[in-house]
Amino acid sequence: MKYVIIGAVAGGASAAARLRRLDEQAEIVIFEKGEYISYANCGLPYYIGDVIKDRNALFVSTAASFKQRFNIDVRTMTEVIEINTTAKTITAINQITGKQYEESYDKLVLSPGAEPIRPPLPGISSDGIFTLRNVADTDYIKSFVQNKEVKNAVIIGAGFIGLEMAENLFDLGMDVTIIEMGNQVLAPMDYPIAAIVQQHIRSKGVNLLLNSAVTGFEKQGANLKVNLKNGEELEADIVILSIGVKPDTKLAVKANLKIGEAKGIWVNEFLQTSNPDIYAVGDAIEFTNPITKQSMNTYLAGPANKQGRICANNIVLGNKQKYIGAINTAIVKVFDMTVATAGTASKNLAKAGIKHIVSTTHSGSHAGYYPGAKQMSIQVAFSPEDGRLLSAQIAGYDGVDKRMDILSSVIKRNSTIYELTEFEHAYAPPYSSAKDPVNMAAFVAENILSDRASVFYWNQFDSISDKDIVLDVRTKAEFEKGYISTAVNIPVDELRERMKEIDPDKNIYIYCQAGLRGYLAQRILKQNGFNNVLNLSGGYQVWETCTKEISKTQNLAIRQFSNLSSVNKIK
Ligand code: FAD
Repeated sequence: MKYVIIGAVAGGASAAARLRRLDEQAEIVIFEKGEYISYANCGLPYYIGDVIKDRNALFVSTAASFKQRFNIDVRTMTEVIEINTTAKTITAINQITGKQYEESYDKLVLSPGAEPIRPPLPGISSDGIFTLRNVADTDYIKSFVQNKEVKNAVIIGAGFIGLEMAENLFDLGMDVTIIEMGNQVLAPMDYPIAAIVQQHIRSKGVNLLLNSAVTGFEKQGANLKVNLKNGEELEADIVILSIGVKPDTKLAVKANLKIGEAKGIWVNEFLQTSNPDIYAVGDAIEFTNPITKQSMNTYLAGPANKQGRICANNIVLGNKQKYIGAINTAIVKVFDMTVATAGTASKNLAKAGIKHIVSTTHSGSHAGYYPGAKQMSIQVAFSPEDGRLLSAQIAGYDGVDKRMDILSSVIKRNSTIYELTEFEHAYAPPYSSAKDPVNMAAFVAENILSDRASVFYWNQFDSISDKDIVLDVRTKAEFEKGYISTAVNIPVDELRERMKEIDPDKNIYIYCQAGLRGYLAQRILKQNGFNNVLNLSGGYQVWETCTKEISKTQNLAIRQFSNLSSVNKIK
């Protein structure tokens, strides 16, 4: 058997190594148009930022070590330019010698990755404007930063890589501006969690411009001028374009392989393309999202590596292992914060017509009485029918990763918030609380599903009429520091005595700081004959963060959850 692989980083290198482990006799050739194989793309921003100091640490394997350990013929600096599916050959060109040649295959694996998007804006090819995709890009950026006087950095695009670059350039001492066309950072996440991240970024002194489009660049001496649609101009010494990527399908298109709805290489559940002798993995492919059932791309290292392994299994052992799709579990460090997501955000569930309920909870990273606990905010979305967990997003400082891994596992297994209520975690005060933050998120969700708790959301205050009551159940001191427009203040601890001040026939919208005291107040009122009582999910904290962020971006049109729905309408 002869296996040929195109692309030697995440998916390709993983497939090649697994192929060898399964088939010692096979001939395996891997082509890579770049200079390096199997390197850590995910570490590149941190090398630029001097967090990773040794460049060699980025290289997980080399062509020589791959040859020695796996007996794989690695052809770096060699681009595959064509696939002949009838003859079962590929045409490659050695970029150093210019030599062009053909190589036959029995089975071919495509893992060419994704290409960064570079919109055709005036001046986009100017010196000092970079994209970051590979080691060569990294070396250019690193040398530019080291050899020029670089003070002002402009990052275009506030996705995962954009935010990582913003932090790393900021930590190198630059003044950083992030320009984002959308109304929030981290587009795959919902606004309330993104708003927490935005506040954190701004608190560090980074200039964050949302709803802002770049129209072009002009060279001004050694500097660049970045022009914005609203007429503003920014000075920059360096610009990083991180506005997204698209699947690299050039070879696949040329070879007449099927391209799917999401513009990625179409594969079946065994990661086999429309040609049975060609498999494809990684950023270049698309597959069915297990939650929305819509075709989608995933640009993440974990799925690419795992797909590489699965595809090798299917090639050698016959199509036996199905790839069930990725739920886009991702995590990013944003200065002191950790932000993570898994599953489909509420806004995208809504677009896909999937009914869901959203709930936000805030918990300590570990027991409050043990020093150093930090708050994390968890937003979950779950099915009103069976409690299936559909997405989870967390912003916090400590222990976010382990919570997200738990939540992701529940989502991936199509499991429910009911299971999560009983999730058994390893507990001692330095690590968690007897009820872990993920248990708490699930308890609240379970209360909502069982009608013990009814919630409304931060962006629904406009729907509240003058005839309704907005009840702030925090302490007087908290109330005096700031409250939501028409609220009256009855602290939860005084509620039993002062209940007669509230008209039981009115709709009552309760809020507290984080949601817990509001829930207690709701339980007191409901069990005393008040039927029309809702509690603000995530409390004043979520409302304050979101409204403050909206006022900064002057975006009054964020309505991610529909207006009061049947789930949360007062009956
Ligand atoms: P790649 O790893 O990109 O490999 C594709 C390779 O194919 C490239 O080296 C390319 O040169 C080669 N190639 C393409 N066409 C040809 C051809 N015709 N002939 C020969 N060779 C070819 N993901 C995470 O999950 N977490 C992170 O923290 C994270 N951070 C990232 C940071 C950066 C800066 C970048 C760029 C990506 C990051 N990612 C992260 C994404 C992750 O690296 C990718 O999802 C993953 O590498 C995709 O694997 P792949 O095999 O599909 O493509």
